[in-house]
Amino acid sequence: MTVATETKQDVLEPLIYDLSVPGRTGVNLPDCDVPETPLPDDLLRDDLKLPEVGELQVVRHFLKLSQLNYSIDKGFYPLGSCTMKYNPKLNEDMARLPGFALQHPLSDEAGSQGALALMYQLQEWLAELSGFEAVSLAPAAGAQGEFSGILMIRNYHLDRGDSERTKILVPNSAHGTNPATVTMAGFDVIELPSDDKGNVDLEALRTVCKEKGPQIAGMMITVPSTLGLFEAHILDVIEIVHEAGGLMYMDGANMNALMGQVKPGELGFDVMHYNLHKTFSTPHGGGGPGSGPVGVGDKLKPFLPGPIVEITEEPTEDEEAPVYGFKMPEKSIGRMKAFHGNFGMHVRAYAYIRIYGGEGLREVSRHAVLNANYIRAQLLDTYKVPYPRYCGHEFVLEGRFPEAEGIHALDISKRLMDYGYHPPTNYFPLIVPEALLIEPTETETKDELDGFIDAMKQIAEEARNDPDLLHDAPHTAPVKRLDEVKAAKDLILCCAPALPSVGD
Ligand SMILES: *Cc1c(COP(=O)(O)O)cnc(C)c1O
Repeated sequence: MTVATETKQDVLEPLIYDLSVPGRTGVNLPDCDVPETPLPDDLLRDDLKLPEVGELQVVRHFLKLSQLNYSIDKGFYPLGSCTMKYNPKLNEDMARLPGFALQHPLSDEAGSQGALALMYQLQEWLAELSGFEAVSLAPAAGAQGEFSGILMIRNYHLDRGDSERTKILVPNSAHGTNPATVTMAGFDVIELPSDDKGNVDLEALRTVCKEKGPQIAGMMITVPSTLGLFEAHILDVIEIVHEAGGLMYMDGANMNALMGQVKPGELGFDVMHYNLHKTFSTPHGGGGPGSGPVGVGDKLKPFLPGPIVEITEEPTEDEEAPVYGFKMPEKSIGRMKAFHGNFGMHVRAYAYIRIYGGEGLREVSRHAVLNANYIRAQLLDTYKVPYPRYCGHEFVLEGRFPEAEGIHALDISKRLMDYGYHPPTNYFPLIVPEALLIEPTETETKDELDGFIDAMKQIAEEARNDPDLLHDAPHTAPVKRLDEVKAAKDLILCCAPALPSVGD
């Protein structure tokens, strides 16, 4: 493989305004054949600054911009925790069928039976896949599913007249949204340590439950954990928390490792969210749209966010289909979002599940786990893998070398871009120093995985022999290292320099 080492100047694409030439236009309007009517003065502006560009300039400008983006359609995207698998284009075709895409959210139930049937079936499939009693499709993201789950736990305790339970247990390997959710829902976080194998420290859990039992509302835990490890003592964890009177929340963002292998509801979990935009192949990144349905056991079923779809009339002998309708569950925590969730995502997930079927989904998870273990095993001699055991669909390694001080995980990630790969997740989970969390997903070929493994090995060589190559990377990207905090906190949302900026 030849990889560029030359440092390019940071080139920023011109704004569409910079391409403007007075009088140039992208449209030819026919001569006016109706009487002209003057517009009221207060609607007219002299200084409306719009770019004057031809159609071809517009097409080239935006195509160029789109090519600067990295995407799963462009290359390997091993971004741990995010499950950047390939999204089959068939899902897109289905979501764009006019009957689905043009369905108005305010259409009445009688006029929406097809959409309701699809949502009902998706609820049923998700419930079956994970061993839960019922599912609500309402939440619009994983984090919103978490929020729904913790609100349900809260209302469950209050409904029983128990208002002392104000604390939720969260392992220190958790995704940041878990403690954030707990806090948003008005609870206190009790952080649990992990043991040296990456599992929850059972002794610490027992001690907390003994000391604070009546204050514990529940526990949030990710399986497999964000270290990519299956929680070895999960049944003990669930039992200890249940005995203390708490409920168990499973963060189901990592379901890609579990489909057809384990049903969280049968393990004893009371509630879980799914990330349709991870496991079920609907596109994500750039902030959405997402979909984070929640599944529950019998304790929380009356509290589900609504509306959920139910069969309101069973089919009679001469009718083929039942009649579906929306219901708010009896003690529902309410709505999480306007209307009925992100319906387009429901269509994509439905198509995905329908095409794979049960056996196919089992194979998806098996291959996701196999691919992660393959990369892990191939890199064991080159990188330190802190938890030397079989992983789930992802694994974490340390992005540092004892003999190449000054090389950090970020340097490795930036150098990977020169080799044409999207970097893994950096510095997460927080409990591994210089963490690189690698999730290949099941949709990559062995050739692709081998290419990535070679690149990782070559970068380890470079780290020793030519560390500046890593420090100065990326060399091939249109812009070099960015101030990521400033980029997130100081957004420029307006491309026209002449228009007032958002802060003004
Ligand atoms: C992605 C993720 C979430 C949050 O999901 P969003 O849809 O991004 O809100 C929560 N937990 C884990 C482990 C995740 O990977």
